Amino acid sequence: PDIITVADLASRMAMRQTDLIKELMKQGHMVTANNTLDADTAQLIVEDMGHSVKRVSEADVEEGLIAPDRADAALKPRPPVVTIMGHVDHGKTSLLDAIRKANVVSGEAGGITQHIGAYQIEAPSGDKITFLDTPGHAAFTAMRARGANVTDIVVVVVAADDSVMPQTEEAISHARAAGVPMIVAVNKIDVPGADPNKVKTDLLRYEVQVESMGGDIQDVEVSALKKTNLDGLLDAIALQAEFLELTANADREAYGSVVEAKLDKGRGTVATFLVQAGTLKRGDIVVAGSEWGKVRALSDENGKPMKEALPSQPVEILGLGGVPEPGDQFVVVESEARAREVAEYRARVKREKQNAQSAGTSLEQMMAQL
Ligand code: GDP
Ligand code: MG
Repeated sequence: PDIITVADLASRMAMRQTDLIKELMKQGHMVTANNTLDADTAQLIVEDMGHSVKRVSEADVEEGLIAPDRADAALKPRPPVVTIMGHVDHGKTSLLDAIRKANVVSGEAGGITQHIGAYQIEAPSGDKITFLDTPGHAAFTAMRARGANVTDIVVVVVAADDSVMPQTEEAISHARAAGVPMIVAVNKIDVPGADPNKVKTDLLRYEVQVESMGGDIQDVEVSALKKTNLDGLLDAIALQAEFLELTANADREAYGSVVEAKLDKGRGTVATFLVQAGTLKRGDIVVAGSEWGKVRALSDENGKPMKEALPSQPVEILGLGGVPEPGDQFVVVESEARAREVAEYRARVKREKQNAQSAGTSLEQMMAQL
């Protein structure tokens, strides 16, 4: 919700805080400088005082930030972005690791044990696939809440020796809420007594009818441990992706989402971006959430330097002045001045929201108490 502190409102009205507070008290609002007002209340108060209001909303600052594609823009196919979800211990991490290891050329395997937020592989078919490792469903939800609807396909992993569990259900509802197609990966088929058919039957109760049960949701039986049928899973993903006809314009300033970011002692902010459109290059000026900077270096998930990053490609970048949050949007802007302006605006909005949460007493609450 749009909110403003009394102090901020005073400065925007070019009034002294004490004068505004006196004025508000006359109108019956008992406030201090740090109280927040919601935008509608603020507008009423200000208009009561004979001022006219021009609301500068988030939309005004954000508008035009991502320039629309030119009319002659060429949309080209882009790889799918896949998130693996499922109940704890059903094998999400094992599956992600197995797929990645199978794809890493020996000699490049250096950083393989470290956690990686996103990586891209080339399937045996030659198709590229990007995997996102959103640690837990909460991160997926948080990213979606920030408008980062980056996933094209959700792979729901269900262990064949455990079947459908609460977080399986959650994964199904997340995929549905996001409006993205599911693929069911029945994992751990190597476990003695594992019963893939029970999984498929149990899924019917959640209106998930897989192909082998006559439905239209693809299902594959795999073992992350034994590396059984990983190619079958990749084929299913490639097929689903083909059906989705995913495209993006690579020939524009890049924008996308922050997958993760951290502060590294030697290198400063290290952020993993997922490019959603455009081409990200060295020297680009980016705003990511309320941070900004000039892209100093790009590298892939194995630490190999990259010249540029294309749509659906995850990339680690150096150069941000601070650490953005997962799910924050990043966008390339034309100048440092513009980057600073946007970053400052976003930082202020964030601060105000935090203040509103911690300040406790909103004007409405105060009014209710009177
Ligand atoms: P996550 O919590 O969903 O990420 O699950 P993990 O990948 O951490 O796996 C949980 C446990 O199941 C680990 O001990 C894995 O070694 C084991 N596991 C994962 N996949 C398989 C599989 O295909 N077969 C067997 N037997 N064990 C598996
Ligand atoms: Mg895990």
